[in-house]
Amino acid sequence: MNATNAVLEPGPRADVATYRSLGDDALSARIQAVRNAIGSRLMLLGHHYQQDEVIRLCDVRGDSHQLSQTAAASRDCRAIVFCGVHFMAETADILVNRPERLAERSGERVPVILPDLAAGCSMADMAAIEQVESAWSELGDVIDTHDVTPVTYINSAAGLKAFCGKHGGIVCTSSSAAAALEWAFARTRRVLFFPDQHLGRNTALKMGMSTDVMPVWDPYEADLGGLTAESLRESRVILWKGHCSVHQVFRPAHVRQFRERIPDIKILVHPECPREVNDLADVSGSTGAIIRAVEQAPAGTRWAIGTELHLVNRLKKEHPEQEIHFLAPIVCMCATMYRIDLAHLCWSLENLSAGTAVNVIRVDDETARWALVALDRMLQVR
Ligand code: SF4
Repeated sequence: MNATNAVLEPGPRADVATYRSLGDDALSARIQAVRNAIGSRLMLLGHHYQQDEVIRLCDVRGDSHQLSQTAAASRDCRAIVFCGVHFMAETADILVNRPERLAERSGERVPVILPDLAAGCSMADMAAIEQVESAWSELGDVIDTHDVTPVTYINSAAGLKAFCGKHGGIVCTSSSAAAALEWAFARTRRVLFFPDQHLGRNTALKMGMSTDVMPVWDPYEADLGGLTAESLRESRVILWKGHCSVHQVFRPAHVRQFRERIPDIKILVHPECPREVNDLADVSGSTGAIIRAVEQAPAGTRWAIGTELHLVNRLKKEHPEQEIHFLAPIVCMCATMYRIDLAHLCWSLENLSAGTAVNVIRVDDETARWALVALDRMLQVR
């Protein structure tokens, strides 16, 4: 094979850049060929925020938890390609390769592949395990941490889930955050909620709590996260200063502009949006709740939706009977999720087909064991 052929005919040994020389149609056809060849032993999972070119090739579309659960329930699947971001692939690895499942497969691990290792989550990156451990230790100087339940949003690294497992805590999704807080308050007076301050605040406000008892811990402040000992003693929910760069973009002005322009508009937002936006919305709910709200609405309903752009555009296409707008006047999409493109997907699949699983996300056994404790608690309270 000469150099020209190498560019035109990328194969498992070629790097991803070489695959970019193929057009979308060729990449899609090659991805489909691998899917056909491996059949039900391969599962392609596509997150709702993923671009259309990728999502149409996936076996299952869903939010991060649904996707991991679907993969974990499969008895045939022997390889997973997760078209999402890093923490999602970690969660899939933990659930799919949990000890009971490994025993059923005589110890065979199911590799979970993330086509581009740079597909991270800016929110998950805002709470590093060292920062959380340090905060826990500092909190112990002013309050009794036996009376604090750590609650982590599923959008977090496996190490944080393990921290919650070890310290009597729990994982939550955006749809189970209220149930997780209730579960926690049945055990302790306080909660440490990370990494998304907005989900924690919006959920606790809905439960009737005041922001006076929700101080925000800033991991970059040298002393007590920038808080006073008194505010911590009075706290009920200590929020972590993290956010989603996508949902943080929505502003109250966007809501007001839509209401002025289209008086009967319904504002539908995700609870990762700031409180000021959440309070003005007609409906605030998880990705699943947003999709259901649109699916169940009568024809002619007018929506302005504040969540990731690819999902909103897909809802627009799939529901032409409704009028759907994106809440912000600017483009805001999950840039890290967008890294999973057809070239990376084709490259990882053709390597897998040739016998080499690349970009495998493997959570170490000890972390997985404790993370599973917190994930199983989440499943019990849903
Ligand atoms: S939309 Fe926000 S929270 Fe979700 S993966 Fe992207 S950066 Fe993370």
